[in-house]
Amino acid sequence: MANHPGSSRSLPNTSPGLSYWQRTTRAFPSLLANRHVAVPRVAKYVVIGSGISGALTAFELLEAGVYGEDVIILEAREAASGASSRNAGHVRPDAFRGFTAYAKVHGEEQALKIIANERLVLEKVDEFTRKHNVPCDFSLTTTFDVCMTPEFAAYAAESLDAYKKAGGDTSHVKCHQGEEAQAKTRVPGAVAAYEWPAGSSHPAKLAQFLLKAAIDKGAKLFTFCPATKIKKNEAGELWDIHTPRGVMTTEKIIHCTNAHAALLLPRLESYIQPNRAQAHTLIPTPAFAAENALTNTFSLRYSLHHFYSLIQRGGDGTLVLGVSRSNPTLSAETLAGRFSTDDTHYNDEIAQDALRNFGQIFPDYKAEDAMHGEGLEHAWTGIIAMTTDSVPFVGAIDSLPGQYICAGFNGHGMARIFTCAPGVVRLVLGGSWSDTGLPECFQFSTDRLSKLTDGSVSSVW
Ligand SMILES: Cc1cc2nc3c(=O)[nH]c(=O)nc-3n(C[C@H](O)[C@H](O)[C@H](O)COP(=O)(O)OP(=O)(O)OC[C@H]3O[C@@H](n4cnc5c(N)ncnc54)[C@H](O)[C@@H]3O)c2cc1C
Repeated sequence: MANHPGSSRSLPNTSPGLSYWQRTTRAFPSLLANRHVAVPRVAKYVVIGSGISGALTAFELLEAGVYGEDVIILEAREAASGASSRNAGHVRPDAFRGFTAYAKVHGEEQALKIIANERLVLEKVDEFTRKHNVPCDFSLTTTFDVCMTPEFAAYAAESLDAYKKAGGDTSHVKCHQGEEAQAKTRVPGAVAAYEWPAGSSHPAKLAQFLLKAAIDKGAKLFTFCPATKIKKNEAGELWDIHTPRGVMTTEKIIHCTNAHAALLLPRLESYIQPNRAQAHTLIPTPAFAAENALTNTFSLRYSLHHFYSLIQRGGDGTLVLGVSRSNPTLSAETLAGRFSTDDTHYNDEIAQDALRNFGQIFPDYKAEDAMHGEGLEHAWTGIIAMTTDSVPFVGAIDSLPGQYICAGFNGHGMARIFTCAPGVVRLVLGGSWSDTGLPECFQFSTDRLSKLTDGSVSSVW
């Protein structure tokens, strides 16, 4: 196995730090499932990766009638220890802003579908969590896209206009300008703000619920059991998956390995790039406690690439502050550090920048008056998977019959996986692409890769 840390042709780092979400779910009974147990010699379906994508794929296979004992989930570290348990907790569809950029790469029709799909995902997550009583603290609310500069306000207005002109539905989007935006968002520096439905969730609890449901139905999760190599078996009909705890022969493999997809699918190395992202938890000062707690979620934007995301959890009131991967005020060294698969530590310069900006954006937070126990509580990193054309790879890998992929969520998995994983399951079980209901540009194909190779499309972000 050729492991290339820093590229998607890598295994996850073996000494990850813990996120807030992981620290608050250490008693999940399957966290270390089958840690020392050998894998079975044969399995019908093998899902690689136990994040929300792998967990929902396994869940949906069983919902569709596949026998639990036919499903194996392989996980390189503890259960759901990748981006799914390290994110900023936002289930936030794009309502219009990405339209222009997506349209440049994929055309207007696909751009409309990409945005409509994210709106659908929010509905699906809401419906799913209610139907199954998922204890993942899902909260359906509205989000504010706060424009912190006149330039970004102009960009957002142009994007909204272009989206509407192309026939995009904006009936769920409210626009607030100037003083109204400031009053609604509690952000004195807001130039404008757009508001639309979004949610937040405890992502580790969501992934763990899905894994538990699959395990309860007979599926087997093997943690600390990376798939290191896949080869055709001797008869040339099935696949041999190599792991440190044995070789498993299987008919169908679903790659849910996100930022590490290219270890087993080396051709993807140039098309999926791992990027390290960082998030923080803050214990609120009185200005954000009790009846002052935020009930909406936020994206606080200085520019397309420089922004902060914010949710406040019900119950414990913890604020979760995410930061953009790119930020012009950070040092070159810190910016270069984002091209990494190392989620061991957080970066203090990023944490200090996030706290400073949070204090400036919400001056009534008054960090300087914080009592012991208030303020920054924890910081962590996780690895997101950026694709060259900014949309995920979903579907059959045409050159490797029996292998499928559901990966490359561009830091937006919570707003995408709930249609992509059910979609890939339909394909695994014999459906056609139209059965998935997904935008055609999400479909994995050699042709898509060739277009990316010859430069006829390029990255959105
Ligand atoms: C700091 C941060 C903030 C974010 N904030 C948000 C947000 O607010 N909203 C949002 O929508 N998205 C957000 N994201 C992105 C979101 O978390 C991801 O898009 C989503 O979790 C991807 O889920 P996944 O299951 O595809 O990948 P992952 O959760 O990364 O799961 C992949 C799994 O595969 C395992 N694996 C990899 N290779 C192998 C192998 N060879 N063998 C066995 N196992 C393997 C990994 O260990 C991992 O557990 C954020 C991400 C980060 C890091």
